Amino acid sequence: MSKESLANLLTEERRFAPPAEVAADANITAAAYEVAAEDRLGFWAEQARRLSWEQEPTETLDWSNPPFAKWFADGRLNVAYNCVDRHVEAGHGDRVALYFEGEPGDSRVLTYADLQREVSKAANALTELGVAAGDRVAIYLPMIPEAVIAMLACARIGAPHSLVFGGFSADALATRIEDADARLVITADGGFRRGQPSALKPAVDEALTRPGAARVRSVLVVRRTGQETPWTEGRDVWWHELVDRQSEEHTPQAFEAEHPLFILYTSGTTGKPKGILHTSGGYLTQTSFTHHAVFDLKPETDVYWCTADVGWVTGHSYIVYGPLSNGATQVLYEGTPNTPHNGRWWEIVQKYHVTILYTAPTAIRTCMKWGDDVPAGFDLSSLRILGSVGEPINPEAWVWYRKHIGGDRTPVVDTWWQTETGAVMISPLPGVTVAKPGSAQVPLPGISATVVDDEGRPVANGSGGYLTLTEPWPSMLRTIWGDDQRFVDTYWSRFPGQYFAGDGAKKDDDGDIWLLGRVDDVMLVSGHNISTTEVESALVSHPKVAEAAVVGATDPQTTQAICAFVMLRGTAAEDEGLADELRAHVAKELGPIAKPKRILAVDELPKTRSGKIMRRLLRDVAENRELGDVTTLTDTTVMELIQRKMPSAP
Ligand code: ATP
Ligand code: MG
Repeated sequence: MSKESLANLLTEERRFAPPAEVAADANITAAAYEVAAEDRLGFWAEQARRLSWEQEPTETLDWSNPPFAKWFADGRLNVAYNCVDRHVEAGHGDRVALYFEGEPGDSRVLTYADLQREVSKAANALTELGVAAGDRVAIYLPMIPEAVIAMLACARIGAPHSLVFGGFSADALATRIEDADARLVITADGGFRRGQPSALKPAVDEALTRPGAARVRSVLVVRRTGQETPWTEGRDVWWHELVDRQSEEHTPQAFEAEHPLFILYTSGTTGKPKGILHTSGGYLTQTSFTHHAVFDLKPETDVYWCTADVGWVTGHSYIVYGPLSNGATQVLYEGTPNTPHNGRWWEIVQKYHVTILYTAPTAIRTCMKWGDDVPAGFDLSSLRILGSVGEPINPEAWVWYRKHIGGDRTPVVDTWWQTETGAVMISPLPGVTVAKPGSAQVPLPGISATVVDDEGRPVANGSGGYLTLTEPWPSMLRTIWGDDQRFVDTYWSRFPGQYFAGDGAKKDDDGDIWLLGRVDDVMLVSGHNISTTEVESALVSHPKVAEAAVVGATDPQTTQAICAFVMLRGTAAEDEGLADELRAHVAKELGPIAKPKRILAVDELPKTRSGKIMRRLLRDVAENRELGDVTTLTDTTVMELIQRKMPSAP
């Protein structure tokens, strides 16, 4: 971004007050903001008491060597004990922990007592394989219960895990195994994806041929699909042969609060993956608190479902650690939303009476594209809270989500956070906040965030700039694995004393925060900084558009010209007048400055494997350049189709 601050173009007037019944019985009330503002560290010390400590911490934060934080440093706890055993000890052993739904339609139910037995056996198995506290374990699994069990077994013995999303290639897996210096890989023969068994083990075999992965001693393999699987005797071990014969008893040992819990590599939307390190006590405190507060979880009655993959941070914090530490009952689904039909998710909501659903804008926009009639065919009346994460949610997608999934009744919480923050940082609270579609609105109690200008000074209400976090928080990343300097340079050097997240944002007239996308994506048009998010949201608010991606392409007259790629809704057809119609619509919504110069209707947009739009590739197309790195794309043929449709530059 240049000196010129981010233009504030979008005005969204719709407001949604919390439903009376949610407000009346909410886990968190408005008073929490005041309590936390008065004594931030006291507030977090209080939240840490949600957990069961073998040794209670007496010190909350050690910030004597910033930006390297220590939270609850003299406390000791076992993370897996907190997520499993203590619920059984409290008499909730019969409560369902996981309703697993396989893509082919198979299902499994695991209670907390079942989970305790499974995690104990797996912990004993890891110990038999020679894994000790501090050893790293790479996990490359589909969305099956063993993924959760494996993570908890690692946590139980103090072996940091590093999950690699099952859709990543052997190359990506090899670099991550090497960087984390893992000793064990836990994988499966395969998983079910789009109605087919899809192999995983061959990618592990290939990754382990790389010299950097030579220190891996064993590969523990879950049988999921039953497909033919290559085998290396002496190295490979079947899960069902090793784990099943273990004792169901395992005594969890307490570790220091700052003991490493996991390393997770960021998805790579913007460059070389970074190994984000999270530790135990602070991370579990904040994931537990935020899951309780943001989703208003009532563990006795709610059925919670987060559709993320466990390989992303959302899966770590809001499938495994947050929900399980709170004793939640949740759904775990293996497959894609449209196998065998476009209503599969809604069928699952209906089947398990899901009450809280947490998903991503990309999924919501895809469902908009498939049509309103798909969810209308299912009973979704059990839903009471909806959540969104991963990208800014366009106001129109937010309103669609609330109306067509939430029955025009449920609060929608737009949660801003990152792999690096470990847990939700900015979000409305469902029983407190009057929601504004498209805005994450307010930092949670105990969290300090603001929007600053080029000099790092907070901007006035009504202006845009850079989102920063101004005080340390319990679930913050502790460093980049093996590279403290990169940690300091990447996050703490742009604005000294503040954590800079890389995202653009604005404060509205009430001081609420609106995320405007990554600062790398901001466009400069005739001297104005314009957010891609705002132009995309204006396009999505046109009834024919389901999804839009906008980039700035070099332009001799205006520095950059706005170039838009749009995906139409199911019923809309591409015709001659479409581009003009959409241009006029954007001019009306945002003003003439934001009018796209070019508009192209496409069938698909390039997305990362975590579902985020990759604008840099579209910029390459718009500028007639050779495409940059496409390895993190879900589907590389998408780019060929777009390039073919693109007329050469005007
Ligand atoms: P990489 O850092 O490797 O480029 P990534 O940033 O996509 O990958 P994540 O940590 O999963 O990896 O995503 C965090 C980013 O996602 C945020 O910095 C922000 O850009 C975006 N994001 C997440 N939630 C929201 C939200 N509710 N509103 C707006 N943006 C969001
Ligand atoms: Mg990031």
